[in-house]
Amino acid sequence: MNIDDSLSDHIRILETHKKALTKLSIKTVRDLLYHFPVRYGDPSQTNTIANLSPGSSAVLFGTFSGLKMSKAFRKKIPMAQARFSDSTGTINVVWFHQPYIAKMIPSDTPVRVEGKVSERKGEIYLSNPKVERLSALPAVAGDSLFGENGGEARLYPIYPETRGLTSNWLYHSVQKIFKSGILEQTQDPIPQNILERYHLPPWKTALVWIHSPKNQSDALSARKRFAFEEVFFIQLLKQQEKRLWKEHGAFAIDKKREDLENFISNFPFPLTKSQERAIDAILWDFRKGHPMSRLLEGDVGSGKTAVAAAAVQAVYTTRPNGQSFGNLQTAYMVPTEILAQQHFESFIKYFKGSGISIGLITSSGCRKFPSKVNPSGWTDISRNQLLKWLANGEIPVLIGTHSLIQKTVKFKHLAYVIIDEQHRFGIKQRQALVREKSASSPRSSALIPHLLSMTATPIPRTLALTIYGDLDLTILDEMPPGRKPILTEIVLPEERGTAYEKIRKEIRGGRQAFVICPRIDLPDPTKELALNVKSVKEEAKRLEKEVFPEFGIGILHGKMKPKEKESVMLDFKAGKIDILVATSVVEVGVNVPNATIIVIEGAERFGLAQLHQLRGRVMRSTYQPYCYIFSETKSGNSVARLRALKKAANGFELAEYDLAQRGAGELSGGKQWGISDIGMEAIRNIKMVEAARQEAATIVEKGAGLESFPQLKEIAEKTEDRIHFE
Ligand code: ADP
Ligand code: MG
Repeated sequence: MNIDDSLSDHIRILETHKKALTKLSIKTVRDLLYHFPVRYGDPSQTNTIANLSPGSSAVLFGTFSGLKMSKAFRKKIPMAQARFSDSTGTINVVWFHQPYIAKMIPSDTPVRVEGKVSERKGEIYLSNPKVERLSALPAVAGDSLFGENGGEARLYPIYPETRGLTSNWLYHSVQKIFKSGILEQTQDPIPQNILERYHLPPWKTALVWIHSPKNQSDALSARKRFAFEEVFFIQLLKQQEKRLWKEHGAFAIDKKREDLENFISNFPFPLTKSQERAIDAILWDFRKGHPMSRLLEGDVGSGKTAVAAAAVQAVYTTRPNGQSFGNLQTAYMVPTEILAQQHFESFIKYFKGSGISIGLITSSGCRKFPSKVNPSGWTDISRNQLLKWLANGEIPVLIGTHSLIQKTVKFKHLAYVIIDEQHRFGIKQRQALVREKSASSPRSSALIPHLLSMTATPIPRTLALTIYGDLDLTILDEMPPGRKPILTEIVLPEERGTAYEKIRKEIRGGRQAFVICPRIDLPDPTKELALNVKSVKEEAKRLEKEVFPEFGIGILHGKMKPKEKESVMLDFKAGKIDILVATSVVEVGVNVPNATIIVIEGAERFGLAQLHQLRGRVMRSTYQPYCYIFSETKSGNSVARLRALKKAANGFELAEYDLAQRGAGELSGGKQWGISDIGMEAIRNIKMVEAARQEAATIVEKGAGLESFPQLKEIAEKTEDRIHFE
């Protein structure tokens, strides 16, 4: 009997549960035990229809009938309606803005509803209640569904809603595991002394407390323990990675900023102090003979490319060890084809006249600068030719998309790897580029390239300390001079006309605009959730016909062929298109300085950090930039959240705000970082993150490695699987 046994060895799993369990990635007993409730219900607080009073909130058990979709009286708000009954009576239930609910709950299925009791014309009803399907109703209303019969009254767990799995089923399955004796046979993964130091409950106790606590404070202390546990394991793993990484050898590149002065003076601008500091930090790392692993974090438009390029010059002008000819090589990986092309073009500008060859590789073809016929331009070349020149060292700089990671792409002396917008790549992709691309000769295979990761995703400090625990951090906290702060406006539906007039004025003055929509095609009417989301194609047509007939309008989205995208981007850059209607593909790094206006449709669907990045698209010149946030909802929360965009001075501030605003259980944004909801609770707590980091560092420093903690190692490996950074 083992905690990593398949769940089906211990619990009878019906066909209907299987799909739901797969969706939740619950395969083993451990997975089930680590699937935590989002909150708890108190059995003593259950109501009946007969004793409801308006203005209060209520928990009821019963069934629905007559579920239907409709439009609310006068205002045309989509809604769902139903009758709800228990043994004491029947009332009306309505859900505004959620018409699809009517389809999700079959009539006559036992449910638990929780929501606000409202009153209209003397009649009480429930509005927008949460609904959870149950396998059975409690025998008597007010009874605990989960009661141990005569035992102490416990709170009952409410798990995240999932189709096909009720909280009731999860509760009983967990209880069965508790009784099986598995817990007794499992060692606490956190060392005893650490638990004591932070007053955290032992593993077994914490599991019982989190799934069926006697009171809220037990539940809280269990959550704290598991939050700590998760961050602690991530830290262990990262600290270990860092240590191993620094043990490798790397090409020693011995350059100072003075050596790069000529190159840097070719930039059409002087560097900011921040950029200079970043270059110094990189050159310092380069000298050490151990591989750099540095994260360059800077708001959109802070000029990360120039920093990366200056370091390329240092690499390019260094000979391979013991050689008096040839150059060390650089690989520059970016997430989209448009970006790869854009960087290729910028690099040609920066390196023109230095005699350097630069390659470009994407899924739609390869290019090389300079072209034989035109020494100041590039030419298309075959993939084979490019790979050959790369492998024999004749192309010192290769820029590309995911195509860079393919096995056939081999360098001779790969010394420096740049990963742009690194959060868009999986950890495996990043490792592939760094570890497997070094030359195959046995002597140099011990050398690992220096790694520069770049990101504009502003994240809170606690999160950076956790997920980037293995990297050294440099922040570009200064914008190039002369940039005007962006004017951001939240535009409600009735204010659109005014906003469009302001935009018209700017475009007449020669500027260009982005309009960002969340969808490509017209919404599929069968998908209820997509109802109000604007589509790129539809919106482009509408703008052309009804709003801006005098301007050139183009579209750009992820489903277009790379060649089509490129030609649209070129037209936009060349000013042949005034307004580019696009999905959020333009989120990543596109540089069109003359585009100074961005309109974001359906803004409530984007995260604050994403909105901020979108907004960065138009902050690339000395013209006044404008951002119009078009919001469909008037919900107080959404609007307040969007308002933060107006005030925040930079992305980091915004990220802290987002973290502080969202309550526990609402932090699911952590998924993109490979952190669970409970782990995100730790991320809100700087003390907890620092403690976990400190403890992990001490263990790794002792040189004990993870081997002396077999239990830790196992879980750390699992954690690694989960961290995917997509
Ligand atoms: P990001 O950090 O978002 O990758 P980029 O490297 O694309 O930003 O730079 C954004 C714009 O700012 C580019 O047009 C670039 O040429 C310009 N730029 C970079 N550094 C400076 C600087 N020190 N002064 C003025 N403009 C700069
Ligand atoms: Mg960039």
